[in-house]
This record gives sequence, structure tokens and C-alpha cells, in this order.
Amino acid sequence: MTSHRAPVPPARLVLLGHPVAHSLSPAMQGAALRAAGLPGRYEALDVPPDRLADLLPRLGDEGAGGNVTIPHKEAVARAAGRLTPEARRVGAVNTFWHESGVLVGHNTDLGGARAAMVALWSPAMEVRPVLVLGAGGSAAALLVALAERRHGGVRVVARTPARAERLAERVGVNVAVVPAEAHTASVAGVRRALVEEAGLVINATPIGQRDSADPVPPSWLAPDAAALDLVYAPGGTAWVRACRSVGRRAEDGRRMLVEQGALAFTAWFGVEADRDAMWAAVGDG
Ligand code: NAP
Repeated sequence: MTSHRAPVPPARLVLLGHPVAHSLSPAMQGAALRAAGLPGRYEALDVPPDRLADLLPRLGDEGAGGNVTIPHKEAVARAAGRLTPEARRVGAVNTFWHESGVLVGHNTDLGGARAAMVALWSPAMEVRPVLVLGAGGSAAALLVALAERRHGGVRVVARTPARAERLAERVGVNVAVVPAEAHTASVAGVRRALVEEAGLVINATPIGQRDSADPVPPSWLAPDAAALDLVYAPGGTAWVRACRSVGRRAEDGRRMLVEQGALAFTAWFGVEADRDAMWAAVGDG
């Protein structure tokens, strides 16, 4: 039988990534486990790329499940014995479990991206372009979620335009790829006119993760435009706070993080996750 849920809850929950020390998922999933009164814990495993192939069969023997993050999402999709429709559509796995020893790969980043966009969506986005900065792993789920909505087109600004072209082709969506430029006041290399025309600007680069850099100046956004930052921080990122201070609607990546985590929890255990407990663990507010 095929399903989007594990028939038996995983015997062990792990996060596979490299690096993983910064991840909020152990705290967030730990909070969900406690709120549901479930035993066990969620462990972050730092797995260098050359160790993944050895580790996966061992996790299968243990009946483990969990999440997958940078840089393993595509590799686990290739290694899976079965992919759910979401994982096939995005071409990446962020959630997995085992069914009779078979690795099942699923994708809840797509549901997370949908939730993040719904929270900010407005009629402006149906007629004006959505501007996506970056063309990496997180952009894949965003582009698929965007393809499900009516909008005034998608423009992707990329430092490596060929990567954006390959991504759009892989997920089968129509986007206009714009090469990033060095000579602009935007850290992400975007021309001002592109920002002014957009109904929604999404930062899918790591800009602002380690410092307080704004990917694009908040004052460039049209008054009715919104900003979605996939980077997250307790209380919101510096860019989100700066956008709000000039009257723009803005959210950081915690909604996507919490929603993908809650959907993964349901896939493993067949019960709803306590999203309030998960929000509290990632710094509500
Ligand atoms: P990724 O696969 O490494 O892709 C990053 C993208 O940003 C690439 O297109 C890269 O260009 C571009 N980029 C990197 N630094 C740049 C710079 N200084 N200027 C312009 N472009 C730059 O990363 P990802 O998985 O997509 O993640 C992106 C961010 O989103 C990270 O901060 C991550 O933590 C966050 N994220 C959040 C969630 C969530 O749930 N909220 C989920 C996933 C990711 P090149 O191709 O030229 O390197």
C-alpha cells in the first residue's frame, strides 16, 4: 500500500545534513514530541557527503525516519526506494521513513512554502511579478508552490543563471531568469526597477543569515508589496524588521520551517503536531 504516512512510526528520528549544528529542528521537533506525549528524541547527525551512502542502509536496518537538509536533499531522493508525489514534483526529499526496509522519500518543504506564501498573499501578487532571489534547494519548493497560484509571472535573480535555468526546467515551471549584477545597491544584485515592479519579493539566498545585511533595500518595495525571507531568526530577521519599519508586510522563514516540521511529524506519527509548541521553540514573535 502506498501512502503519505509511515505505517509504523520511526524507531529513531534523525536530521541528516552537513552542517547541522545551527538547525532549530531538534528543539522544534523535541517540543512537538513532548507536547504529544511521545517518547524518544530527534537527533541532528552531521553527515559529510561521502558518508551518506554508508549511513542510509544502517538507518534502514534501524527503521529510522527523519528529515534531510543541505546538502543531501537530492541525493536522498535518488537513493529512495519510493518517492511520494510531492518529493517527485520537487525533485528533493526533506522527510523520510522506512516501510518494510524500503526508504520512502517525501517533501514537506512544499507544504511549508505554500503556508508561507498564503500568509502574505494579496491581490497585488496576482497581477504583478513575484521576484525570487536565489535558485538553490529552497527555491525548488517555492517555484512549485508558486506554480499552483495565479500571479503576474515569476522572475528569478540568480548569481549563477545556469543553475536557475536548470532548476526551472527540472521542476517544469516557467520563469524569467535575470542574472544578478554587481553594480547595484542591492546585496543580492537586483536592479531597483525589478523590485519596484514586484508584488512579492522572496529572499531564497543566505544573505542576512550571519549578519544583518538586507538582500534588497526595503524602501525599494512598492507600498503594497510584501517580503518573504526564508532566512529565519527569533523575532524576525533584520530585513523583515526593516521592511516592517517602512510599512511593508513581511515574514521570515519560521512559518515555512514550522509548517514543514509539523507536516513531517504527521507523516511519521499520523497525528497533528502542536504548532504552538513548535513556534515557541523557534522563538515566537
Ligand atoms: P542553497 O541551495 O545553497 O542556494 C542558495 C542560493 O542563493 C543560490 O542560488 C546561491 O547562488 C544564492 N546566493 C548565495 N549567496 C548569495 C549572495 N551573497 N548573493 C546572491 N546570491 C547568493 O541554499 P537554500 O537551501 O536554497 O537556502 C537558502 C536560504 O534559505 C538559507 O539561508 C537557508 O537557511 C534558508 N532556508 C530556510 C528554510 C525554511 O524552512 N525557512 C528552508 C530551506 C532553506 P549560487 O548558485 O551562485 O551559489
